Amino acid sequence: MTAIFVAGLTAGLYVANRDMSSPISEALAANSEPLVSPVNARDRDFYAPNSETLAPDEMRLIACGTGMPTARPKQAASCWLLELGNGDKFIFDTGTGSAERIAALQIPYNFLDKVFLSYLHTDHFGDLDALFVGGALAGRQRPLRVWGPSGDTPERGTRYALDHLYKALTWDLDGRKGITDPRGYVPFEVTEFDYKGVNKIIYQENDVTVRTIPAIHALDGPVSFILEWNGLKFVFGGDTYPNKWYAEYAQDADLAIHECFITVPALIDKFKFTPQGALDVGTQVHTSPEAFGKTMSIIKPRMAVAYHFFNDWDTAPDINQRIRTTYDGPLSLSTDYMVWNVTKDDIRVRMAVVEEAVWPPQPSEKPLVPDPSLKVPFSDFIVEGKYDMKDVIQPTYDEINEQYGLDEKQN
Ligand SMILES: [Zn+2]
Repeated sequence: MTAIFVAGLTAGLYVANRDMSSPISEALAANSEPLVSPVNARDRDFYAPNSETLAPDEMRLIACGTGMPTARPKQAASCWLLELGNGDKFIFDTGTGSAERIAALQIPYNFLDKVFLSYLHTDHFGDLDALFVGGALAGRQRPLRVWGPSGDTPERGTRYALDHLYKALTWDLDGRKGITDPRGYVPFEVTEFDYKGVNKIIYQENDVTVRTIPAIHALDGPVSFILEWNGLKFVFGGDTYPNKWYAEYAQDADLAIHECFITVPALIDKFKFTPQGALDVGTQVHTSPEAFGKTMSIIKPRMAVAYHFFNDWDTAPDINQRIRTTYDGPLSLSTDYMVWNVTKDDIRVRMAVVEEAVWPPQPSEKPLVPDPSLKVPFSDFIVEGKYDMKDVIQPTYDEINEQYGLDEKQN
């Protein structure tokens, strides 16, 4: 036993090199006695952001929001980051609370410039302003491109929503002029497409094709997306009552995301819905777990991904049980930071382990020095409210000027 214990203690040295023919592997193989917890010999079974390069034929999906309009610490609202082995990255939905999940992944913001919105409830685009402004502040030096559906009237379309969101940010954006690199704050580049399009191409670049199909939820307008690349098919379903387009065009997806709502009893017991409201919202406005399962039995994906419910110890078992009355295939009951690595041969599902105290990653391009002449001036009234603090601030100017060979002066 002593020999095995010592071998276990030294295992980390060898396993760190991922050498499966290491002395510890041989030592373990040679002994059939119970092992003394060789903790350092365990292969890592979680995803650490910034630690794995994708293979050229691989895609990685990270759940950045899987919950409800009422975001909570455990689950933001709908948001999915899809990364491809060719370097492309796509964000599907930017639901409330999701911007901090994206930040945790430590991806330079220049690479996060493509957003696809399934529709315009805030649990699917409520953090677009946070991604837009926060991303520009932290290194996105190019426009944010957004694809989203039309509505049955112009006012219910994506272009109207984003034109007005940009206008709503007037104070925010004017207040940043002359202070930061301005290139990321230009208006959204919006591509509004017909929500009635059935398997119509809305994006085709770099060997990636994105098509849309209609979804059925709340009003005309919601859609689902089908992304195909390198022989892999990814489907992201917008909120919907089960619909014929998903049943037809999501067939044989490698990864198929579809909403799966909180059960009706849980909506009543835990969300405090009325029974009448719970029945309507839980089975007619959204897709019930049983209907989610039936949908997946029709399309037969390599992996079915359920979202849009609070995924807790006391709710997940019932969701799972109800799905299993109608579906017995591969299933992920998603929660935030779940990660799927997909190739033609394998689908690996793990959780990401993230650091909460992250800072923005290094920008992929050198930032421009701000041009102070672009600042919007204060009124005389406000300027006259300034205390004279120059004497205590000046040492910071001296320190930085000396360190960087500058000659910056206080206003
Ligand atoms: Zn929703």
